[in-house]
Amino acid sequence: MPRSVLIIDAISTRRIHLRAQLDTTAYPVDLAETQSEGLARARKDPPDVVIIADDLPDLRLRQFCKTLRSQKQTQFTTVVVAVQSENQSARVSALVDGAHDVIDMKCDAVDLKARMRSFMRSSDYLSAMDRPAHGHIPQGLSESRPDFAPITTATFVAPNPDTHLFGSLRKMSADAGIDARHAAMHTVRRDPDAESDVYILFETEPNDGIRDTLIALRNHPVSRRSRILFVTDCTSRSASPLDLGADDQVPTEISPSELTLRITRLARGKRDADRRSAETQELAQKAYVDALTGLNNRTAMEDYLVRMDRALADQPKAIAVMIADLDHFKAINDSHGHAAGDVILAKVAQTLKSKLRDGDFIARYGGEEFLIVLPNVKRDHARDVAMRLRDAVADTPIALTSGTVVRATISIGLAVAHKSERKTTRDLQRAADTALYSAKRSGRNRIELAQMVSPLGRPLGGSRAEL
Ligand code: GH3
Ligand code: MG
Ligand code: MG
Repeated sequence: MPRSVLIIDAISTRRIHLRAQLDTTAYPVDLAETQSEGLARARKDPPDVVIIADDLPDLRLRQFCKTLRSQKQTQFTTVVVAVQSENQSARVSALVDGAHDVIDMKCDAVDLKARMRSFMRSSDYLSAMDRPAHGHIPQGLSESRPDFAPITTATFVAPNPDTHLFGSLRKMSADAGIDARHAAMHTVRRDPDAESDVYILFETEPNDGIRDTLIALRNHPVSRRSRILFVTDCTSRSASPLDLGADDQVPTEISPSELTLRITRLARGKRDADRRSAETQELAQKAYVDALTGLNNRTAMEDYLVRMDRALADQPKAIAVMIADLDHFKAINDSHGHAAGDVILAKVAQTLKSKLRDGDFIARYGGEEFLIVLPNVKRDHARDVAMRLRDAVADTPIALTSGTVVRATISIGLAVAHKSERKTTRDLQRAADTALYSAKRSGRNRIELAQMVSPLGRPLGGSRAEL
């Protein structure tokens, strides 16, 4: 995806200075002199990042950000406002008006390049998600905190616990909905706080160990998803904190109000990301689960059989595949209704599952058929399990909502093979299916053991058996 930056500033020397700080070999940099010219250029050639001077004569930042977000091509464009150094209130109001970040007009090239990489990553991420920017970081900060916003837990880590910034954060935190804690560097590295939404890492001097803490937190399973705000004045070192995994970086002179704004924004981004990942997991889960019975569905079964075939060579014992099918289920549906049929199916599924061990596999294979795999079993044990399943179903009365109690039975086709027999799970599935037919023909509520044929055409394993 081509990437580009648009600089909007009325003063030509500053435009040129900013452009000189950027990595123009990595992406083209376009220039504009006014807000309206900038918007027109952004519409024509949507940039990934816009850097706009806060003293632009015609600047209405809130409107500018809103316009960019409302247009499809620029909805993920990052807006960065360049302010005069030391102008703390301009920094805060730019963020409140919807800017994603604020930089110093006389910014350092190393710092700016690292920020650009970070913006590009987040712009790539957002476009990949292809969802509206609302609710995503780096969303602007213009929205007020809704009443139900959860408390943000923020852990402050500094080599020196008396850092003035922690004191100020502590004072403002309650009003900002932040539970601010302090943690020692060595403790947090080994044992991060699972509740912490945001870590604030304060660098006191070069090589004070806080960058190692950043790397440790980013890679620790407990803190991997937490957001990290890195506070430093050491910006011209080779590896930027943003490249080392920090989500945001600010100078040590940051005002407490800007700090709390940034913490709140980071926490909101984390919560959004957590929610999206939970949704994705839930969808993935649904894709593998049969809604009626809660068992694995056919897709899960296909995946499992492929994995099982790969693992067969490592199994010292045999593998057993069963197909269990409800007997005369059409007649049950006809007498009690389809809804009652569903209840019976779900109950039988539950009964079968309750009789299997943890490593066994069961899926709803078709309408009223189940596929069961017992990996790494002895032949006799597989037969015992099949009998246990058949008896459990037959012995479990099922109460219908009408008050009627019914008993269902199943027939099972069972195929067992040792790895030396070189059968795939597909071979076993086919053999189990054929055996199931025999079980049905022989009267139902019974188990038929498949007769396996060796690659040389000779019968293998146990003799054909009706159980
Ligand atoms: P057999 O003993 O030979 O297996 O006879 P059967 O009646 O069970 O077999 P058949 O294949 O003739 O009919 C299967 C029935 O299962 C027909 C179909 O309506 C019913 N069925 C399949 N899926 C569902 C379902 O999800 N819910 C309900 N209630 N019935 C289902
Ligand atoms: Mg049936
Ligand atoms: Mg059937």
